Parts: sequence; structure tokens; C-alpha cells
Amino acid sequence: MRCIRTAILVFCVLFTTNLFSQTDEEIFKNIYKSSLTNGKSYDWLNYLSNQIGSRLSGSLGAERAVAFTKQELEKLGLDNVWLQPVMVPKWVRGAKEYAYIKSAKGTTTVNICALGGSVATPPLGLKSAVVEVHDFQELKALGKEKVEGKIVFYNRPMQPDVIQTFEAYGGCVNQRYEGALQAAKYGAVGVIVRSMNLRLDDLPHTGSMTYENLPVDKRIPSAAISTNDAELLSTMLKLDPSIEFFFRQNCKQLKDVLSYNVIGEITGNEFPNEYMIVGGHLDSWDLGDGSHDDGAGVVQSMEVLRLLKEIGIKPKRSIRVVLFMNEENGLRGGNKYAEEAKQKGENHVFALESDAGGFTPRGFSFDCTDAAFNQVLSWQHLFKPYLIYFFEKGGSGADVGPLKTNTNVLAGLRPDSQRYFDHHHASNDTFDAVNKRELELGAATMTALVYLFDKYGVNTMVNRLKN
Ligand SMILES: [Zn+2]
Repeated sequence: MRCIRTAILVFCVLFTTNLFSQTDEEIFKNIYKSSLTNGKSYDWLNYLSNQIGSRLSGSLGAERAVAFTKQELEKLGLDNVWLQPVMVPKWVRGAKEYAYIKSAKGTTTVNICALGGSVATPPLGLKSAVVEVHDFQELKALGKEKVEGKIVFYNRPMQPDVIQTFEAYGGCVNQRYEGALQAAKYGAVGVIVRSMNLRLDDLPHTGSMTYENLPVDKRIPSAAISTNDAELLSTMLKLDPSIEFFFRQNCKQLKDVLSYNVIGEITGNEFPNEYMIVGGHLDSWDLGDGSHDDGAGVVQSMEVLRLLKEIGIKPKRSIRVVLFMNEENGLRGGNKYAEEAKQKGENHVFALESDAGGFTPRGFSFDCTDAAFNQVLSWQHLFKPYLIYFFEKGGSGADVGPLKTNTNVLAGLRPDSQRYFDHHHASNDTFDAVNKRELELGAATMTALVYLFDKYGVNTMVNRLKN
């Protein structure tokens, strides 16, 4: 009798250890292998980019992307897939913009694009003298006397010696975001902004801008100019400050429309009320097809849940993929998700965002407590074979930001960023610019981090890190 009992016990132990004895190293191997040999992320991105295309909030493309990703998540056999309604702004570019520089020698056509949210120029365009500045202090120093009636040209380049290019972007983007608002104070009639691009080329890069509470009749049109043409305009201004700039754009802000965040969930089998999310944003700008920004993050986040299922991980906590709508020109989706989570009292212990391009993953940045960050540091050796070395304190992502609490972990995937701003918000943010293998490595790296936090939980002990 005892023998039989022992035999059963031994069998049970063996069986259980067989199922659960895989080391973290072995699980990591499976995750990367599955993503690189049997992944879905690249096929999904192909469809999103080449069959649907750009996905500006409120556009048909955005609507189709909601339907497509919902349908694909449903195919994965998750426990639940649903749409979360959210009202989003709808801005339309209209006809292609046109611009030229007029000098004594004639006119030179230049490449511009309206900034997202900008008003139009008068129907026949706007022509005026130009004043070049590099920041708002310079603008202020010029004052109304020298700015009134003119077009303000912001020409501060992204700093090439800043290795983390998002920091270089952060150091410049106020020209684009509030350039028109500031210039309008001094009576400017329009704004031209140097594209947020580290290289010299002919592509204008769009992006969001604000008028804040400026009365409608005080709002002035704002456009981005390619870096080559910014250099040209600057040179021509130095030779002859009396040259004029002409531009025409007929973009328009329409009424808000109904759209959706797309959400899929694997319900946790031990702590179903603890939520871990992975996400990217479904909307994109309209000039390219948004493959890097943020088609890559969308398909990688979907792939995290697919990989967990494929390699047979049954998470302890509830794991959600959230595809946010309207990150680019409103953040309505990210705010809506956090607002509803708060209303429902859902405990979000972890949130990971991929919104920095589909390039080779280098690691993650974290917004979390010292305790949780030390936990991450103790896992570094697991990532090393996959050339993932970057683990730093810092930001996470715009869409998951509103979920911040004193104890949870917010994280952002950090891919190599050297070429990101060649494509960001421009017409060359297209599928061909994304490398299949790099995209898949990113999806696997995200899955590996989610696996670890699910398995070991978030250390919620101490003080939040100061960023
Ligand atoms: Zn983005």
C-alpha cells in the first residue's frame, strides 16, 4: 500500500516538475524561438500598413484598424476581446500643401506639410516676410515690432550629439507644439517649423500642435518644412532678409467622432484582479502608413499575448493587450483607459508600452519604485544572451502614463533610436522601413519582461523613484 502511495507521489512530483520545472532561461529561449520562427507580428504589420495604411484618428483607416485588430485578437482564443468606446478629435489635411520662397531672383518651391491641428491658410495662400528664430526667448526679444505681420520660422535643429535621440526630440519639439501659440502673441501671421529630423532630407515631418485657448480668429496656420529646405530658407534669409515665403494649406478641424481602444485579455489564474497590460497606439499620422509609429508597437503587443499562449504559459495575473486610439493628437484613448480602470477599481500593477519604433530592442526604461527597479536589475543576466542591456529609470510611454500609481511598474520598450527620427511622422514611415527580425526581437523582449513580472510579481515595498 505504502509502495503504491509512494509511486503515485513520485509520479505526481515528476509530472508536476516536468510541467513547471522549466527554468527562466528555458522559457526565454522558447519565447525568442517562437517569435523568430513562428511569429505573427510581421504579417499583422504588413496588413495594417499595406492593406489599411495611415490611421489618423477619426479616419476610415483608423476604423478599419480597429476592426482588423479586434478580429485578429479574437482568433487567438483569448478569454475576452472587446472595444472600449472613446470620442476622438478629427482633423483632416485636405489638399497637398504648397509653398515657395520668393526672392529677387524668382521663386523656389519647398516641401512643407501642415501640422496636425493647424488651421488653414486663406484659400489662395499666405505670403509674407519671414523672421527666423531658434527659441521663444529670441522671439520675445524681437517683440511685436519685428514679428507683427510676418511668418515666424523656427529653425532650432535636433542636437546631433545627443545619443538618445528622444532627448534631442524633447529638446526641440516645443517649437512645433506651441510655436504658433507663441508667435501669435506678437502678431505673426503664420509659422514654419524645421522638421524634427536629425538628417538632412526633403521630407516634412508633421506632428501635433496646440492653440490652447486662443480665440479662433487669433489662430495662425502652422506647417513643418523639410530639413533641407529649412537650411535653404535660412541661407537665403542671411543673403537677403527681405525674401518672402508663400504657403497654402486647407486642413480642417472637424467635430469629434466615436472611436475605440481595442482590448484583449488572458484572465489570470491566481490573481485575476491584478492587471498587467502591454500596448501601443493604433492611430498614426497620415503622411506614411505609420509602420514604426506605432504599427510596430501594436503588433508587438498583440504578439506578447499570442506568444504566452503558444508556449503554454498560464499567467497568474490578468494580462491585457490594449491598442490605444488617438495617442498622436489627443491621448484620448490612454486617458479613457485609465479613467475607466480607476472607476472600476482595477488594480494595474504593470504596464508596458512599445512606441519608439520597430528597431532592434536594446532594453526598457522604467517608471517605478526602487524595489521594483532592483527586481528588474536582478533579471539582467536573463536578457544578456539576447543583447538586451539597457535598463534605466526614466519615462514609460504616453498612453500608459495615466495609469501611474505609487506602487506599480510602468515601462517602455527602448529600441535603437538612431534612425527613428528619419521616419517619425513623415511619408517614409512605411512598412519597408521595418525589419522583420528586429520587430520580432522586440516582441519577444516584451514578452520576456511580462513573463517575469507575472511570475514573480511586482515588489511593492518602497519609495517610488524620482525621475
Ligand atoms: Zn507614437
